[in-house]
Amino acid sequence: MGMITYTIDNRLYINVTNKCTNSCIFCIRNTPRGLGEGYDLWLAKDPTADEILNSIKDPQKYDEIVFCGYGEPLIRLDTVIEVAKRLKEKTSVPLRVNTNGHASYIHKKNVPQLLSNLIDRISISLNAPNKERYNEICRPFSEDIYDYVIEFIKESKKYIKEVWVSCVDIIDEEEIKRCMELAKNLGVNFKLRAYEG
Ligand code: SF4
Repeated sequence: MGMITYTIDNRLYINVTNKCTNSCIFCIRNTPRGLGEGYDLWLAKDPTADEILNSIKDPQKYDEIVFCGYGEPLIRLDTVIEVAKRLKEKTSVPLRVNTNGHASYIHKKNVPQLLSNLIDRISISLNAPNKERYNEICRPFSEDIYDYVIEFIKESKKYIKEVWVSCVDIIDEEEIKRCMELAKNLGVNFKLRAYEG
């Protein structure tokens, strides 16, 4: 069984699932480095809420707790909500979700609304200034999902205190600029992430 949680710079990361509705060309799963030596994050099975909570000894000691994974955490929406609720009962540490923004479409629910008051920060992978490029870069399960990602960002803005969208720096400068403008127009923060392949 891979590690359920791990820490980086006093942030605790919860490895919720390996499953994803994208297959990004830059994803660690698709890079030469892959999940090689030193990595024990590939889960044999998705952890339950109890398994996640049991692996977090003292939540209060971290600067932030992040739901992520080598996959899309909000595929497991019920588990994320249950863990977040139970963490909120015992800690004031900010909770963040790193997501591809597909969840409302997948679950046919307004997921940002369901996460309000539980999740303090959300970081949504945008990765492209338009649908065509998104489909090339992220290779999603549905070719119209980009429209739903934009909708997810707008709903997140309504319900979650701090919203970030991110791009990986494998796109050219012009495209990065267009993504930044898009974030600005949506009223959310923008972060450029370095490709780590
Ligand atoms: S959304 Fe994240 S986990 Fe999913 S394929 Fe892309 S980089 Fe990998």
